[in-house]
Amino acid sequence: MKKCMSLFLCLSLYGCAINLDFGFGEEDAKPETNQIKSTPQEIKIPNDIRWVTKSSEYKILCEQTYKNAWDNLSEILNQVNEQSAIIMDLDETVLDNSKYQIGLTEKGESYNPESWSTWVNLEEAELVPGAKKFIDNVRTTNTTIIFLSNRMAKNEKPTIENMKRLNIYDEKDIFLLRIDKADKKHVRRNEVTSGTGRLEQAGPMEVLAYFGDAFHDFPQESETYIFGQNMFMFPNPMYGKW
Ligand SMILES: [Mg+2]
Repeated sequence: MKKCMSLFLCLSLYGCAINLDFGFGEEDAKPETNQIKSTPQEIKIPNDIRWVTKSSEYKILCEQTYKNAWDNLSEILNQVNEQSAIIMDLDETVLDNSKYQIGLTEKGESYNPESWSTWVNLEEAELVPGAKKFIDNVRTTNTTIIFLSNRMAKNEKPTIENMKRLNIYDEKDIFLLRIDKADKKHVRRNEVTSGTGRLEQAGPMEVLAYFGDAFHDFPQESETYIFGQNMFMFPNPMYGKW
């Protein structure tokens, strides 16, 4: 009988110990479980996008390039008439689309024409640093600004609306957006200088400078145009043909 009592006592104490352990464990575990549920999954923004959106270096480089451009060009731009132009690319030269890139990262997607078109129609692109000040300066001269971009021609309206919101639109500007795959940038550059195609009404233009973020934004093999003098390249580590 004594043995039975001792065994019962032992088992009871052992049971209490187990209960205590479980009890403590559960209380201890709860906050951790709740923490995991309430913390949204962190999405790591890649360095290239972070550099564009967060760094002082990107901002300074863009502003520096636009300042150098104005310092180099202001004298000549102040003397010309409307048949003189500068050709500017739009995306990552004038318009900052880093929000689109962040959206792609968050969705785990890469560039595709459908999501890009949706983005363009949102009209939410921002300004590349220095672009507005430079464009405002050019507006004080008679120089024509030609925006030559691979945005599709069907998206000209939302592009213009976006630029109106950013206060960089003027009705005298010429927009040469892409009609189809064959409508390459060099095709449109030829129309500008020869006054053909979409430039038939405006007539041939003398192009005084080019602005872009990709090699194909600039005339190739030309002795007239020199980077840093009348061709100005902007940094874009987020996408390109490298
Ligand atoms: Mg571009």
